[in-house]
Formats: sequence, structure tokens, C-alpha cells
Amino acid sequence: MKYANSIVELIGHTPLVKLQKVTEGIKATVLVKLEYLNPGGSIKDRIALKMIEEAERSGKLQPGGTIVEPTSGNTGVGLALVGQQKGYKCIFVVPDKVGQEKRSVLEAYGAEVVVTPTAVPPDSPQSYYGVSDRLVREIPGAFKPDQFSNPGAPASHYETTGPEIWADTDGKVTHVVIGAGTGGTISGTGRFLKDVSKDRPESEGGQVTVIGADPEGSVYSGGTGRPYFVEGVGEDMWPANYDKAVPDDVLAVSDAESFAMTRRLAREEGLLVGGSSGMAVVAALRAARDLPESAIVVVVLPDSGRGYLAKIFNDDWMRSFGFLPGASEATVGDVLK
Ligand code: PMP
Repeated sequence: MKYANSIVELIGHTPLVKLQKVTEGIKATVLVKLEYLNPGGSIKDRIALKMIEEAERSGKLQPGGTIVEPTSGNTGVGLALVGQQKGYKCIFVVPDKVGQEKRSVLEAYGAEVVVTPTAVPPDSPQSYYGVSDRLVREIPGAFKPDQFSNPGAPASHYETTGPEIWADTDGKVTHVVIGAGTGGTISGTGRFLKDVSKDRPESEGGQVTVIGADPEGSVYSGGTGRPYFVEGVGEDMWPANYDKAVPDDVLAVSDAESFAMTRRLAREEGLLVGGSSGMAVVAALRAARDLPESAIVVVVLPDSGRGYLAKIFNDDWMRSFGFLPGASEATVGDVLK
């Protein structure tokens, strides 16, 4: 019989699929790695598992312990899923700007959600960070994974994401394109692929080239940290888990390009993915334009498009921020009116 003993065993081992339509005019092979097929719906399941296992090993997390993390997104889901299976209580601290849908997902997994006001300074005791720090101090047996600095985050990608890409391409991958938020994915995956290919002869592609994809405005691509709409990627500061030595290049991508590509991936490739995935594909296609037929480009797609139906996939929302022209394509609904 073929079955997993727990949903946790199904984290990772995500497939690669070749892009067919959006790559028109490109000679290289462009493969995308579908992280939305993880049990919690994103790449963050991988780091959740590793950070919890490391905390168990080091004794920071003991039976009956509580996981406390300021997160509203994918990391929360991963931690809720793994934490629950391993018998830990989870408390997530989220700012009140985070939508009810996202809070409800965490609660559905049995986690507790504490909502903090957005309109307070970051150093206020009532802030997102202030409240989570106080909970960690006050709850006996509390553990805060801290995905921005926890070495388990890049380590999980060094041990799983990178080796999967290498194995699934039979060691032929030449370029990898990855968006950076905390930097864990690009640092761990990129470092592994560089290490494993460091002595590969130039005739077989040489050392793997790591390309970062970044929203225009973020510090990784030389921005000032000014705001942008793509979620989950880019930073206004340099987190500990971002290893500057790993990317060979970082390409800045605009919100408009990211969202247009995210919509094309759904319509033309059957891939319902989030905005950071569209962003990474834009960067990959830009990099692949000048590459020969022999190049194998792998792009990591971090999460599903389901969480963005009211934004990227909503014409009114897109129009209201100028990402679609005012008089965009009429919908069937418009025609029937
Ligand atoms: N895309 C999405 C949707 C994310 O939630 C994240 C995590 N912040 C990333 C990309 C970037 O991953 P990392 O934090 O490992 O750099």
C-alpha cells in the first residue's frame, strides 16, 4: 500500500513543468517548480517543518510547547499544519490590515490568532512585533521560530528544494530564478546548486547561475524600500537569512509586469499562482532571452493564486490601481447587461 503516515510527510518533492506559451521566442527550456502543491499550499511548509524539528532537537520546543510567530501568510499556515501534527499550540500575531480570509485559514487549522493595530509605531508594545515578543516572554514553553533569522529556513532549502531541482533535471540545470522575501529560499537553494555544480565543466553548463527576482523598489535590487503591491517578496531592510554572496544578479520587476504575467500563467499555462510567481517568471524570461537552446532555467513558484482572487485576478481591483486600462476587455457579464 502506498500512503503517508501524516500530511507532514508530503511536504516537498514538488514537480517541475515546462512553460509552453509565455516562452514564445525563447530558445532555452524554462521549467517552473510548483510549490503550491505542498500540503499547506506554499513553499513555506518546508521551512516550518525544519524550524520546528531543529527547535525540538535543541530543546527550545518541548512537549506541550507553544509556537508564537508574527506572520499572517504562508509561514503561518506551514507552522499551523506542522505544529498541530506534532502536538504544539500555535499563536499567530497579525496586523489588523490582514484580511479575515487569511486569519480564518489559520484558525481553521486550530491556531489562535491575535490581532494588533496597524496604526502604532513598530517599537510600540502594542505593535505586531511588540505583542509577539511579549507573548513569547509570558507564555511558559513558548518558542518563536523567526523566519527572518532562523538558520533552519535556508537550511531546509539547502537540504530539499536545491537537491530536488538538481535530481529532477539530472544535474543539467544551468540557471535558477528565485524571488526573495526573507531570502531563505534563494540563499539555501542557490547555495546548494552552486556547491553541487562548482566543478561541472563549462561544456556541461558550468556552475549554476542564480538570479534573484525582486519587486521594483525593494532593497535587493537597489531600491529604497518604497512600497509595491506584489506580496511576499522584496524588503526594506536586509534580513539575516539573505546571503548577498549567492545571487549572481538581481532583476527588478514592476507590479504591472508581475500581475500581467500572473494572469497569463493562469490563462495560458493552467497555473493558478500568486504574484511573486508571476514576478519570478518575468525575471526568468528576461534572463532567458539571450540564452542558448542548451540552457535549462528553473523558476521557483512559491504559492497558489487562490489567495489573490480579489486582487490580481479581479479586473476592478486591477483597474483601480492602473494595472489594467480603464476600458479593459468587456466581460460576459458586461455584454449580457
Ligand atoms: N513568495 C511568497 C508568496 C512568499 O510568501 C514568500 C515568503 N515571504 C516568498 C515568495 C519569498 O520566500 P523567502 O522568504 O524564502 O525569500
